[in-house]
Formats: sequence, structure tokens, C-alpha cells
Amino acid sequence: MPDEMTPGETPAGRVAEILARLADLRADDAPTHGGRVLSYVYDSGLAEVDDLARTAAASVQAVNGLDPTAFPSVARMEADVIAFAADLAHGEACDAQVVGLVTSGGTESCLLAVKSARDRWRAGGGTGVPTIVAPVTVHAAFHKAAHYFGLELDLVPVDEHGVVDADDVIARLTPRTAIVVVSAPCYPFAVLDPVPEIAAAASRQRIACHVDACIGGWVLPFWASSEALSPWDFRVPGVTSISLDAHKYGFAPKGASVLLFADRDAKRSAAFATTRWPGYPVVNPTMLGSRSAMSLAAAWAVIEYLGPDGFTTLTDRSRSATDTLRQCVSGITGLRVVGEPVGPLFAVTSDIAIPASDRVDPHLWADAVGERGWVLQPQPGLAQQHGPVLPRTTHLTITPVTADEIDGLTAALVAGADEVRGVAPIDLGELCTVFPSLAADDGLDASSAGALLADLGLAGDDDASPLPDQLAPVMALLDIVPHRRAEALLTELLARLNERPRSE
Ligand SMILES: *Cc1c(COP(=O)(O)O)cnc(C)c1O
Repeated sequence: MPDEMTPGETPAGRVAEILARLADLRADDAPTHGGRVLSYVYDSGLAEVDDLARTAAASVQAVNGLDPTAFPSVARMEADVIAFAADLAHGEACDAQVVGLVTSGGTESCLLAVKSARDRWRAGGGTGVPTIVAPVTVHAAFHKAAHYFGLELDLVPVDEHGVVDADDVIARLTPRTAIVVVSAPCYPFAVLDPVPEIAAAASRQRIACHVDACIGGWVLPFWASSEALSPWDFRVPGVTSISLDAHKYGFAPKGASVLLFADRDAKRSAAFATTRWPGYPVVNPTMLGSRSAMSLAAAWAVIEYLGPDGFTTLTDRSRSATDTLRQCVSGITGLRVVGEPVGPLFAVTSDIAIPASDRVDPHLWADAVGERGWVLQPQPGLAQQHGPVLPRTTHLTITPVTADEIDGLTAALVAGADEVRGVAPIDLGELCTVFPSLAADDGLDASSAGALLADLGLAGDDDASPLPDQLAPVMALLDIVPHRRAEALLTELLARLNERPRSE
């Protein structure tokens, strides 16, 4: 190295400097480990699992999953991951061999389940606009699928516990129904939908029935009392596809989910192929073209390492933490757990059976618990067509590490509730009088949306995040703003996060 070079000018020095900057950028991120964030991240608590995933991902860093004929390791790892998932979902109960796809995540698995069903519905002679029938609690990925793929979403109301009546779903099935979707369990309230009844009716009418087990698929099979659960997997006749996310309770890094099909042709219908351009023949089994093999290799390695025994141990830890937390919340005056949740997640709402002075608003509670260092996820209330208004709630997803921190967390849940008990929920109704444009139910262009956000104090400036520390006021806004306008405002808020003001 020439003497006059400073360390920052050597390759090694520049590398170190860039990595230091990255560490700086990460400084404001929510903690991904230690169980502080009760959504988004799934921490096994096992350092060697993280290390293994990192090394496995790095070893395929340059591979392109686009072409498993050039990179056969991709197909082999996929076969292993799919086989493991098919065992979880009792694929052996199907007459034919269960087949599958490894996708980039739950959303892609859900999108492809719908795309496959739509194309098969058309091939079977379906005409007009196809529909997706599902309980209102179905994941937003199916709203996205309807939007992207030109289907109508026919949502069936649920009761105030998040439970759908199977007959209400069955009554909606028509010749236009391309697919009916049930969840095992649903994300908002962790309700296990009545899969057997709905799948049987769908099967009689030759309608595809997808079970969204994105969150439950990798944990319910190891749940101690899973025998007591109503069946939701391929043991149920009529279930045609199941999604299970490896990057949730499979403890793989983000970017890995499995979509299983009971029928080989259904898998083929999820694909896209074309030979009608002057380039290489395109065959994409999933949505992407070129794709990284890193998350596949990481998921494969984690699954190989943990195996059924590892998942059983981790599930037991999630389960004991979940039991403790549910008991804790049930013991807090003013709060209650919504319905009969299944698996390591649940939602909490205000106990409206008691006087207002004793109630705890779930969103004020989430902020109060947040100040104590634990991040809970507020969920808005929802007005259903032809059904009860679903209450605003706060969601907790529990992972194995939560068990290590359980005393600190329960103390924070109790203290947070004590702090806000009797405080009325934020009501922003008057804001619509001040800013009438909040109440319109249509989209907004970028500058009008930006101006409205600025009026609301949510536009942010160059160096500060536009999101306030308290989320309850933002959630209260969603209570009063019509859906399309709210969606436009949130889109604007997010779009601005990576748009720097142009320098003069
Ligand atoms: C997480 C989830 C999805 C979507 O998965 P992503 O991995 O976030 O894209 C779909 N359905 C359910 C039930 C989920 O919990």
C-alpha cells in the first residue's frame, strides 16, 4: 500500500467504511432479535440458526434461480423444502402426489394460488369476471390478487369474534367462483376457519379451495394439542392448495414461502411460459424472472437443521409464552382477547362490557406498551357490509424468544394498561370539518395528498421520519377517513420515505 493512501482509499478501507455506514443506517431500525417486536420478525432465539442461514445464503449469492437447468441445486433444494412442507400439510392423505412451488413470500404464494385457480376456471369454461369468495378476515394478499388478476373479491362477514359461518360462505359460491379461501388461522384474530365444511361444498361444485396457512402452516403441526384442532390440511377432502411461509414460523430469513397443490395441473396453471419473443424461451413457475437463490438456500438449510424435533421444541416455547400472555391479558381489567385464537398469535380489544372508566383502548395501550420498549401492532376497526362492526384491536405474534423475556413483557402489558385505563379512545371526527377533503372517498394525486399530509402534520421533513412515535392518532385517522382516501394518503406517506427533495 503506498504510504500516502489513507485507509479509506484502499479497497479494504472502503469496504470497512461502507459497512460502517450501513451499520449507521440500521441504527434506527426496530430490533430484529430479542422478542421486542411482536410482528414482522420471527426469532428462533438460536444464534446458530441465523449463522447457518447467512452462510447458506452467501454460498449461492451469485446463482440465478431463473434457470434450474443451469443451476440444478435450485431444483434440488426446492424439492426438499416442498417435501418437508407437504409432510407438514399431510400431503400423503391426497390420492395424487402433492406438488409445490417455493415463492418469495406469503403474498406471492397467495397470488399464485389465485392465478392458478383463475386460469383453471377459464379453461373449465368459466366466463365473465371470476370471483374469490372468502371471509372478511382473509389476508390482504387476496385483495391484491383480485386487483392484479382481474377478479372480484366477495367478502363474507364474520361475527364479532372473527368467526365466519360456513353456510354463509357456501351460500356465496356460484358458477363465477374461481376460488374460495379459508385461513388456518387468519392473521387479524387467529381464527381457524371451518375448512372441512367449506372445502366439501367447494369440491361438490368443482371450485378450488385454498387454505391460507401462511402463518399457521409451520407451527400448527407442532402445536401440542393440534389433534384437538379441526383439520385444515390435505386430510380435508376438497382442499386444493395450501400456502405455508417458511419465513414466518419456519424461522428462515425473509423471502421464502411454499405453495402446495393437490393436483399437478394446478401447479402448471400457476406458471407463465412464452416462446413468442426473440430471446430465450421463458418459463417462470413463479412471478419473478431472474431470482435470487439466497432465501431458498437459507430456508433449506434452516429446515434441514431444525427438522421436526427442532420445530417441536421451538413451538413449545412459543406456546408457553402465548399461554402466559393470554392469561396476562385476560387478567387486565379493561382488555380482552378476541374470540378463540389458535396458534401463537392473538388480538386484544377493549372490554366494552364494563364501564368506560375501566376500559382500556387497545391503540392507546399499544403506544403505552411501546414506550416501555415492546412494539405491538395496532389493527383498525372495520365496518363490514351486512355484519357487525369489527372492533379496533392490537395484535401480538409470539415467537420462541418471547419465552425468555416473558416477565418484562407481561409487566409492560400491565403497566401500559394501568397508564391509559379510562382514557377515551382518540376521536378525530371533528377533523373532517376542519379538512373536508379528508372525507371524500376517492384517490388523490401526489401533490394534493402531500398537502393534506402536511396539513395533518404527517408530511415529515428531510431528516425526520414522518411517522410520529404514537400510532394511535394515525389509527384514529383511519377510523374517520373513507377507504380510498385513506389508501391514497398512506401510499403518499410511504412513497415519500425514499424521495429526497431535489437539490437546487
Ligand atoms: C403473513 C401472511 C400472509 C402474507 O405473507 P407475506 O409473507 O407477508 O407476503 C398471507 N396470509 C397470512 C394468513 C399471513 O399471516
